[in-house]
Amino acid sequence: MTLGDLTLTPLLDRHFRLDGGAMFGVVPKPLWEKRAPADERNRITMAMRPLLVQGPSTSGRATTMIIDAGAGEKMEPKLQEIYGFEHGESLAASLAAVGVSAGDVDIVLASHLHFDHAGGFTTRDASGAIGPAFPNARYVINAGEWEDATHPHERNRASYFAENYVPLREAGLVDFMTGDGAVMPGVRVRRTGGHTRWHQIVYLESGGRTAVFAADLLPTTAHVDVPWIMGYDLYPMETLEFKRAFVREAVERESVIFFEHDPQIAAGYIREKDRRLYVEPLESRV
Ligand SMILES: [Zn+2]
Repeated sequence: MTLGDLTLTPLLDRHFRLDGGAMFGVVPKPLWEKRAPADERNRITMAMRPLLVQGPSTSGRATTMIIDAGAGEKMEPKLQEIYGFEHGESLAASLAAVGVSAGDVDIVLASHLHFDHAGGFTTRDASGAIGPAFPNARYVINAGEWEDATHPHERNRASYFAENYVPLREAGLVDFMTGDGAVMPGVRVRRTGGHTRWHQIVYLESGGRTAVFAADLLPTTAHVDVPWIMGYDLYPMETLEFKRAFVREAVERESVIFFEHDPQIAAGYIREKDRRLYVEPLESRV
């Protein structure tokens, strides 16, 4: 889609599966399974959808950015099986379908560093060495998230893998941000907390319109109701506070919301009818 000077293209790393109970926190299964049916292992189908952001052109060539990069190709086969990775889908194929190669990417922006968002930041070569998946890019990462991701504890250790980001710093490719602010013209980050202490979402503003890459604040369209908060969130009351105001604002401003983990709907508008919230999908489905 075009948003003023910006071109926004939802990408697909791949579909995968996570425990349905963990995805919906305190919501009872009889309610969530109507929106997200579970498989025989209680997993629901999700997707990893990085967002491609292009333009505006500054020195004759448009800036190319991706927000998050899915899980990538490095994960152990056993974990890929546990998480139900869909083989035959990849971020590289999704980028190639829109004519972008890894070397074309100028900026990689992280919402946070969990493996399903940052795994694709690095890649393993034939010799087994791990290096940047986007060799010409600067990787923009929140400094607090970096600190937490490099000092995991028992509750978040399963989500943070140093191989996804430490090699980037060793290669001198990381730009740390310490707070909210602009990443490129029309693109700014805003801290939500909640999911992780420094989890952030991305506002895309151009031509008088607003789109938001909501990352794990609103992972799927099934999460639009304010108390439908993931069990994974470290600070669920922060999520609740932020989400309540965010959803209200999104309805009033008719912001386009990108749902990073929805299995079918990459983007849509949050609408309210008879005091019920729902998502009206954008035309393009990925
Ligand atoms: Zn996630």
